Amino acid sequence: MRICVYCASSSAAPRIYVEAARALGGALADRGHELVYGAGNIGLMGVLSRAARAGGARVTGVIPAFMNLKGLADPELSEIVVTDEMRSRKRAMEELADAFIACPGGLGTLEEILEILTLKQLGRLDKPCVILNTAGFYSHLIAQIDYAIDQRFIKSGYRQLFHVTDSPQEALDHIESYTEFESQDKWFEEAPTSEGPNGVKSN
Ligand code: AMP
Repeated sequence: MRICVYCASSSAAPRIYVEAARALGGALADRGHELVYGAGNIGLMGVLSRAARAGGARVTGVIPAFMNLKGLADPELSEIVVTDEMRSRKRAMEELADAFIACPGGLGTLEEILEILTLKQLGRLDKPCVILNTAGFYSHLIAQIDYAIDQRFIKSGYRQLFHVTDSPQEALDHIESYTEFESQDKWFEEAPTSEGPNGVKSN
């Protein structure tokens, strides 16, 4: 399968995240998958890409032209897809991949995985999505999503849009055994409840 990994460009994050990116790249290659990612040769992206390639995986990098000019792309990719801007890059990654994994990262990574989950929620795609929760990095985001469910901004069934694990092998198990997501109506029909957070009532 072609697996798209969203991953940090930072090279300053703690070593545990670096090791996880390396382990994911290696596991993905061992299990015969291809990598699709943002083409960078820096930070966790570079570690992931080199590990996948060292294990024999085909690696496709997708990069917008303005980043390619700056020489940010890994020169040893199996294939490079250059898009005209950031939005078309995300679309290209989405179309090329059969599955998505978010490793720990910054705003770019958050934006990429949240867009994919939003599209899946709207029934625009049905592909496995995994949040690699290395060292609990994503626990705050998951708590925020759970709170949004609690406050009825997200339907509880959408908790199944993504799988959470800190294990690269389990991430791949989930992807390999994925079955269709049961779509549902995205929108709530009910009226607001009178009670807000912490029992605060509206007038
Ligand atoms: P961030 O998490 O903010 O470091 O952003 C990482 C994500 O945004 C990656 O998955 C890439 O798709 C994209 N990205 C950000 N910075 C770069 C870069 N220097 N080279 C290539 N892609 C990048």
